[in-house]
Amino acid sequence: MTGTCSLCEKEKELKQSHLLPSFIFKWKKEKGTGFFRSSQNPNIRVQDGLKLYLLCADCEQQFGLWEKQFSEKLFKPFHDNSGTQVKYSEWLLKFAVSVSWRNLIYHKLKNVFSHLSDIHKGLAEEALFTWKSFLMNQTKQISIFEQHIFPVDIIQSYQGQGRSSLSPYLNRYFVGSVDFDLLWTEKTCLLYSKLNKLIVIGIIQQPIKDFLVGTHINYPTGEFMPRPIEIPEQLFNYFNKRANQCAQHLSSLSDKQWAVISKSYEKDIDRLKNSDIFIATGVDFSISGQNAFHVLKSKKNKD
Ligand SMILES: [Zn+2]
Repeated sequence: MTGTCSLCEKEKELKQSHLLPSFIFKWKKEKGTGFFRSSQNPNIRVQDGLKLYLLCADCEQQFGLWEKQFSEKLFKPFHDNSGTQVKYSEWLLKFAVSVSWRNLIYHKLKNVFSHLSDIHKGLAEEALFTWKSFLMNQTKQISIFEQHIFPVDIIQSYQGQGRSSLSPYLNRYFVGSVDFDLLWTEKTCLLYSKLNKLIVIGIIQQPIKDFLVGTHINYPTGEFMPRPIEIPEQLFNYFNKRANQCAQHLSSLSDKQWAVISKSYEKDIDRLKNSDIFIATGVDFSISGQNAFHVLKSKKNKD
C-alpha cells in the first residue's frame, strides 16, 4: 500500500507496523503458554499484535534497531531476573518515544482526540510533533513530554486500606498482560504502554511536578536498576480497573476457546508450575479468595 509515512512524511510504500513491538509477541510465544497468549488481554486485537500501515520500510527499520536493543539489553534480561541493572544509552529514550508516539497516533486515528479537552488536544498535537522531531534526529529535547519506565510484579501481600477493592485478577494482569491506552483526567494526560512487566509512560500533561518518582528515562545515558519508585494512587486504581476489564474479557471467551486454553495449559503444566502466571494466580487467590476465580466465572455463566 502506498501512502504518506507518518514519520518521515515521504510518499512511499507503507509497511504494516506493529503498534506494540513485535518482539514481545514472539517472546510470549517462546516463553509463555497458550493461556498467556490467547486470553490475558482485555483487547483482543492487541494480543495478536495490532498492526497499522504507518511507516515506510526505512523508518520501520530504524524502529526495529531501537526495539532490538531494548529487547536484548533490557526487556529479556529483566524478565529473566528482576534485579537486573542496565546502563543504557540513547536507545532507551528513542525506543520509549517510539512506543508512546505510535500509541498516540493510534488514538488520533481512532478519533479519540475528539473526546479530549482543548488543552489536552493542543498538548497531544505538540507531543506528536516533538516526539516525531526527536525520532527523526531533528532535536535532542522532548520538552515536557517525558518518558518513564518502571516494573510491575506480583504483590506478595497487601496491607493497605481497601484490600477488598483490589482486583482479584491484579497479579495476573501485572505479570501476564500486554496493554496500551491513552488516559486522562482533568489535569493529567498519559500514554500507557504495558510491555508485560515493564510499563512505559509518555507524559502529555502531568498534574504535579514529579507525578512519578524514580522512573524518568534520562538522555543520552542512564541506569535502569531496582530502586524505590512512587506511583500515584490514581495510577494504581487504573491498574485495578484494567485488571478487571482483562478478567471480563476472559469471561467472554467461547467454550471452544476455553478448551484450547485448557489443553495447552495441561500440556505445559510442568513449565507452568514455575511461571509467573502460576505464582500470580496463587497470590491473587490468597488475597482475594474465591473471587480470584469467580471473576472469570460469573459472567461466563450468564452466556
Ligand atoms: Zn518513513
